[in-house]
Amino acid sequence: MLTQQIIWNLNELFPSPTSPKIEEAIKEATVTADTFENKYRGKIAMLTPEGLLGCLQDIEAFEAKFSDLILYANLNFSADMTQPQSQQLHDRTNKLNAKISKQLAFYSLELGKLIKAKPELIDNPTLSNYKHMLQRVHHRVEHQLSEIEEQLVIEKDQYGVNAWEELQSKWLNTRMFEVMVAGEKKTLSYGQANGLLPHPDRATRESVNRSIYGLLGKDGEIFSSALRSICNDWVNVSKRRKYSTPMESSLISNDTQETVIENLLKTVETGATIYRRYLKLKAKLMELPILGNHDIAAPLPNTPELKYTYPQAEEFITKAYSRFQLEYAQAIQDMFSKQHIDPTPRFGKRNGAFCANHYNGKSAYILQSFNGTLSDVFTLAHELGHATHDYYMSRKQTLLNTNVPSAVAETASIFGELLLTDLMLGEARTDQERKTILSLVLDEAGMTAFQVTARVWFEQSLYNSIEKGEYLDYKTICNHWVNARGRIYGDAVTWLPEMEAEWTMKPHYYMANYRFYNYPYVYAQMFVYSLYERYLQDGKAFAPKFIELLSAGSSKSPLELGRLVGLDVADPQFWQGGIRVFEKFLIELESIV
Ligand SMILES: [Zn+2]
Repeated sequence: MLTQQIIWNLNELFPSPTSPKIEEAIKEATVTADTFENKYRGKIAMLTPEGLLGCLQDIEAFEAKFSDLILYANLNFSADMTQPQSQQLHDRTNKLNAKISKQLAFYSLELGKLIKAKPELIDNPTLSNYKHMLQRVHHRVEHQLSEIEEQLVIEKDQYGVNAWEELQSKWLNTRMFEVMVAGEKKTLSYGQANGLLPHPDRATRESVNRSIYGLLGKDGEIFSSALRSICNDWVNVSKRRKYSTPMESSLISNDTQETVIENLLKTVETGATIYRRYLKLKAKLMELPILGNHDIAAPLPNTPELKYTYPQAEEFITKAYSRFQLEYAQAIQDMFSKQHIDPTPRFGKRNGAFCANHYNGKSAYILQSFNGTLSDVFTLAHELGHATHDYYMSRKQTLLNTNVPSAVAETASIFGELLLTDLMLGEARTDQERKTILSLVLDEAGMTAFQVTARVWFEQSLYNSIEKGEYLDYKTICNHWVNARGRIYGDAVTWLPEMEAEWTMKPHYYMANYRFYNYPYVYAQMFVYSLYERYLQDGKAFAPKFIELLSAGSSKSPLELGRLVGLDVADPQFWQGGIRVFEKFLIELESIV
């Protein structure tokens, strides 16, 4: 649907991967890292508040400059991974980055020690800009081991528990899957087979599911060995690091509290009846007595395939953001006019979509393969939300205060999707069009809020099982997954028997030392839906408060950020707002079918 090639303009960063400016930047980064090391190694523990302020400002200045180089190398490589010059630069900067991270690792260790010894620094007025950042350091440092223990953990994990993740991804990437695609037998890679999961033909969808999960299940003993080892390892690590639960480490990284997440998950469990009401309606729309698991993400039959050109997408999104508030559309207009977006699909370009923050430029860069589908327009609105967050945050915060935890990072992006939904529903010409939009919105929210919650319970149940002294063999793990899934889907879906192995495919479960990656997605979805409800109530008065929230970056906790817009995430009733907005879309769909 693109009439011309649109390629982003990276000149603001560097003119080309072979420019002499690249050599200068590499040299400058190396020299500055050496200077920082000489100035601070072994000395951070003795710093006065003024000295610490200088140290934090020095590291910010270094990182802001260095990240331009890393960003350019990554963007240039993502746009065309086949160019030798881009590959070389990418490889070179990766190595430089690894070297400098290792060289400056002392900074975070020594800062932790200093804050542990002198927690009163957190409240020192000289350091007020960094108050919340230092609070987070303080939370983290409580669980740090000695320097030598930390080094041993890293060394032993590298070829120990980290290897399970590699094994799982190697397995997925080296297997072939036999699938019947629209009646024709094909042998496909995992990526190709996976891409067919939302195929419009039901028999194809069933065949893909049976093929992928059937083959994964055959090697279930291997995956259960991996997961059992990773979870038991984490239980040991958690005890050593004095975490009170296996989830605590993740709660600290996400800057949130256990009670908040418990309330969130409880609300989703109760609200699952509304999700099941949607799934039953979807079955009716698909003329099925009940949905099979392979129908959950399927497109509705007999609905128009909506197509958009890139300029149309730009117009729609700009209009959606401007309707919220004229000023709020500035960031995205800036993205389009500076040509910071690369939408054209082409050979050698990275798959998927992302938005990368450019702190020094107070802007961002977006990569996408825009093919003109409705979902592509939503993806662009989503990524432009990230760019908007970056736009406000980089204007108000110093670099260390732009380290937003994942639960908050999706705020402006999901909000952008909602603004677009609002506009598109209003402008849709037919009920068929409205149906397509609403089912896309409900499918996506259903996945993020409800299905992901089942994954959180699954992960919790593994640790409960270990605590009770149970042995996590393949069937036991499958049972945990089937039970967790049942709490969300109940009687609204029937499952192919192969689907008990669904858990084996999720790469996140195999990432050692990175547990409970999942609930921040649920948090973000439900938080933004609640924000949206507040916007519908407050009208125009909401926008300035929302901009204040985005501008605060990570200088405030998610709890404080909520308070800026008059919401209290610690209130057990709070998350109901998210469910109400999901139901609002469902009622709209029910009224037109
Ligand atoms: Zn996102």
